Amino acid sequence: MHTLTKERFRYGKGITLIDDSGKEYLDGVSGTFNLSLGYNHPHVVTKVQEQVANLAHMSSSFTEPYVEEVLDHLIQYTPNGIDAGWMRDITGSTANECAVKLAQKYTGALDIISLYLSHHGQTQFATGISGNAFRRRKFPNSAAANSLHVPAPYCYRCPFNSSPDKCGYQCVEAISDAIEYASSGSVACMIIEPILGNGGNIIPPAGYFKRLRQLCNEYGLILIADEVQTGIGRTGYMFASELLDIQPDIITLAKGLGGIGVPVAAVLMQSRLNVLEKHEHSFTSGSNLISVTAAKATLEVVSEPGFLEAVRSKGSLLGTLLTEMADKHDCIIGEARGVGLMWGLEIVDEDNAPDAVKSNAIIDRAFAEQQLILRGSRYGYGNVVKVRPSLTATEDEIVEIVKRLDTVLTTLH
Ligand code: PMP
Repeated sequence: MHTLTKERFRYGKGITLIDDSGKEYLDGVSGTFNLSLGYNHPHVVTKVQEQVANLAHMSSSFTEPYVEEVLDHLIQYTPNGIDAGWMRDITGSTANECAVKLAQKYTGALDIISLYLSHHGQTQFATGISGNAFRRRKFPNSAAANSLHVPAPYCYRCPFNSSPDKCGYQCVEAISDAIEYASSGSVACMIIEPILGNGGNIIPPAGYFKRLRQLCNEYGLILIADEVQTGIGRTGYMFASELLDIQPDIITLAKGLGGIGVPVAAVLMQSRLNVLEKHEHSFTSGSNLISVTAAKATLEVVSEPGFLEAVRSKGSLLGTLLTEMADKHDCIIGEARGVGLMWGLEIVDEDNAPDAVKSNAIIDRAFAEQQLILRGSRYGYGNVVKVRPSLTATEDEIVEIVKRLDTVLTTLH
């Protein structure tokens, strides 16, 4: 288990954290992948400060006008006729619970299908619908009833020992089997991450989502895209669903929506699915004005002309540099994969097996190089090192992040 610092960080500036002694650390992972705009983006800081001074909170019975502004903004970018929303959550976990409730209430069906290695949150229910058992082993109640897990499209370690050119999407076909043989016979929805984030930065192969959409249509399943990690510009598009042509019925958001780390979440859906009553899903701090204001200000920045284009261009720089680095250290990195500013390095041993011990060493040594990076959580294979700087990182900072990683990898040969 890697051990990071006990020292206190005092300031955050751009993508840099500064500790008590003035030492600066470059953050290569945007906090917990949530600081889409870095630590102190002036527009968000100013708007939040003003809001706190004027009116930090009121009952969510009165926040509608504020929420509407954010939802209207988001809906300009949504695919597949998604034209309504709900903003009573402050975490991705409960946003996903909200999405499942919508699907269950709308369809009258119960079961939820998700992918192995997926992560949809840490409440008991969100843990239960997440596709890896590691987090719920000691909490039997988290093994959500009516939750079915199916193989992930992890081509690098294909569960069917095949490859995208010849597999015929066996991992999608396996979903039919799960529905036929393992479900209660009443399946409401399928929840996916467009790119499996914590599970290893896994990008499904071309055509996967088209086939998945067909399957959802065949069985009448609501398709939920959990864009908690991939949303709000992370892939160079407002939603990864647009980039990967996913056509979901519902999208969930959190993390990057708060810009500078303010907790906030949203659930976007087609109007037909907007079926919850307020008493069926709301929280004291849901649609809190600090959160909603941070989301509004963040969207104003991300939708400035040229902002997303710049993310794509910086993403392509990051991808080129990481791929070159992976070639140079091919005995440690099996694959560098990613899109936009969402990259992962598959850390392997000499037999190409997942090497989580080495990925921990990389994180520890990177910290010694004054750089923050993270790996996949200690579940699944846990060996994929993440590189996901804030969308506001400069090209120079991206070059520096890779340079420091390269130094670390050199020490591991
Ligand atoms: N979905 C995904 C894809 C996530 O990565 C996470 C958090 N890592 C969640 C949901 C849960 O979000 P939160 O921690 O805000 O509850």
